[in-house]
Amino acid sequence: MRGSNALYEGHRLMLPGLKDRASATCQGCRFCIPILGREERKLACLATLDLYLTGERRVPRELSGRDFIWLAGKELLVKAVARVRPQGQACGFYCPRE
Ligand code: SF4
Repeated sequence: MRGSNALYEGHRLMLPGLKDRASATCQGCRFCIPILGREERKLACLATLDLYLTGERRVPRELSGRDFIWLAGKELLVKAVARVRPQGQACGFYCPRE
């Protein structure tokens, strides 16, 4: 039945706001902030820390690597840096910057 309708594939239901979310990247997300190290600066996802994800603490504009390690440890810092995909599609925790 569906195969006989040539126009069927052309009709897709797009919920309001879904298009913006589907085209969003980590760079536009408020959880994506630069982590400042001694020699380099990398983007990291603060949504890996419950402290920021739950809104208990305000997401800063940038954070030093030393402070991040003090808050969550080295393993989580590596995980947070690996999670950011500047050009890739945003994840389900995406939250646009204000
Ligand atoms: S991984 Fe998700 S929550 Fe983290 S910066 Fe990217 S879109 Fe935002």
